[in-house]
Amino acid sequence: MGAVVEWKIGDYRQAEEPFYLPVGPEVQLFEAAAAGRLPVMLKGPTGCGKTRFLEYMAHRLRRPLVTVACHEDLTTADLVGRYLLKGDETVWVDGPLATAVKKGAICYLDEVVEARKDTIVVIHPLTDDRRMLPLEKKGEVLEAPDSFMLVVSYNPGYQTILKDLKQSTKQRFIALEFDFPPAGHETAIVQKETGIDAERAAKLVQVAGRMRALKNRGLEEGVSTRLLIYAAVLINRGVDMQEAIITAMIKPVTDDQVIQKSLTEIATTLL
Ligand code: ADP
Repeated sequence: MGAVVEWKIGDYRQAEEPFYLPVGPEVQLFEAAAAGRLPVMLKGPTGCGKTRFLEYMAHRLRRPLVTVACHEDLTTADLVGRYLLKGDETVWVDGPLATAVKKGAICYLDEVVEARKDTIVVIHPLTDDRRMLPLEKKGEVLEAPDSFMLVVSYNPGYQTILKDLKQSTKQRFIALEFDFPPAGHETAIVQKETGIDAERAAKLVQVAGRMRALKNRGLEEGVSTRLLIYAAVLINRGVDMQEAIITAMIKPVTDDQVIQKSLTEIATTLL
């Protein structure tokens, strides 16, 4: 069976510092966790800055960042590694977790709750004071260097009783809570990311604020900062503001045409 794991190593040490606008004490808290070798959980809705924050922290702490997109078919072997046939030889190939441990990197398991329960268990020995990763198939145990750090993201909004992290997993992490940035911050972010003027950036944020107030009243989740940025990109390319809002901020978040229509009306009164 082929590997079905999607992962990448980002090396932000040499790169220009990624732009991240802190919203609270998250930078200091993360630094303290890194110094204290504590695992971290980033909680919050999609598209609100969790990945960008980690890219920024990886640069700040001068560590590589190994990112794994978790999904329900993810196996322990996908994370840890496996023997593969190469020609007529079998060779061991490290998975993202073993790679991150060896490199002393930050390992980011994005949407960890999507992974199977028996897969998640493999991170347990890395999250307590043992800080080790057993490569069972290889009969080897990797010891994590001080710079290795495990980070998971988790969106509490999506969880159901059937699909949630076990307390025995949750209680292995400190948790940093993320949400959509306050209006002033979000306006600055949209401006910085896209170069759009302050007035139109503020308008997009205002429309988003009204849409987010409708969460649980027809909308499953508020419109993300990422989508505001997409709307600004369209506007910069000459798309009319209302059209950009419909295309980037309304249609992606709901399939319900009645709700789409009322959101469009709300947006139009604000423009
Ligand atoms: P998540 O990982 O939470 O799904 P991302 O980190 O990919 O979301 O955020 C989506 C986009 O929003 C980023 O690419 C970035 O442009 C922007 N963004 C959100 N919050 C911030 C912030 N505090 N500082 C800078 N950019 C931000």
